[in-house]
Amino acid sequence: MNNFSYTRAADVGSAVHEVSADDTAAFIAGGTNLVDLMKENVARPSRLVDITRLPLTRIEELPDGGLRLGALVTNADTAYNEQVERRYPLLSRAILAGASAQLRNMATNSGNLMQRTRCLYFYDTSTPCNKREPGTGCPAIDGVNRMHAILGTSKQCIAVHPSDMCVALAALDASVRVTGTEGERTIRLVDFHRLPGDTPHLDNNLRTGEIITAIDLPARGFPDHYAYLKVRDRASYAFALVSVAAALEMDGDTVTEARLALGGVAHKPWRDTHTELMLKGLSVTKDHFEAVASEILRDAKGFGHNTFKIALAQRAIVRALQHAAGMGRKA
Ligand code: SF4
Repeated sequence: MNNFSYTRAADVGSAVHEVSADDTAAFIAGGTNLVDLMKENVARPSRLVDITRLPLTRIEELPDGGLRLGALVTNADTAYNEQVERRYPLLSRAILAGASAQLRNMATNSGNLMQRTRCLYFYDTSTPCNKREPGTGCPAIDGVNRMHAILGTSKQCIAVHPSDMCVALAALDASVRVTGTEGERTIRLVDFHRLPGDTPHLDNNLRTGEIITAIDLPARGFPDHYAYLKVRDRASYAFALVSVAAALEMDGDTVTEARLALGGVAHKPWRDTHTELMLKGLSVTKDHFEAVASEILRDAKGFGHNTFKIALAQRAIVRALQHAAGMGRKA
């Protein structure tokens, strides 16, 4: 771990000022990923700006019927919030599928968005990695890639985003409120994270110094027909091989509105609005769901160890949709 200075920000403006003035500074809140990255010498900030005392710790209703999740509310407090459990159970379920109780008590909502891939090569500074050191190569493509992406990959990087929470947020059409030196702006969650392309070192579309202040949920929460299905190697404390957030509105056996997002398969939560439109007006049959799953995975590509994920994702999508539609045990 390198030496670094530490300051505690008193307000959002000073936090933004401190980090935007120094390219090597970083915000720290729960620290559940950043401290690991620092210990492994993957992240080497010269300065940490502690934002844990900022007034971003509330969950409050919005005038349009939505819900605002403060950036510094912990993952646990979000998952167990009465409004989230009742109106957005898909989000609550996804959060509780991630990490461990101890980590969820420390990790914040904004930190969940900002966590970095768990690609083993990224953490191993004795190996090349385009995400850690652009231009050095991607050993995962021909190496150990069982956990890696099957959608939206590039020749530069095949890493996945590890979050469960973000998969549900993508399905719910959440948006991220940020503040920077040029003021506030809102980024749709589906546009917040990036695909690797030729810039795999960039995980998201935040500008230098910008801080996340809140995550806004729209009024529609799909509380009646939802499922978060996470397939993983262990029953708890394991990242997803594949996860599926499915949310439906139904009229009898017919889908009137659908949301579908995948985790563990791409560099960002993978939402395919084309297939959501396919679902609208369909009756809830296994055949229809299988056709939708095949369409989502139409461009999926395996890299050897992870090729099994294509068939796994196909089955997980169908099962999640069945559970959301009430056709089987709730995921
Ligand atoms: Fe690095 Fe991405 Fe390749 Fe992993 S998949 S080694 S993070 S470039």
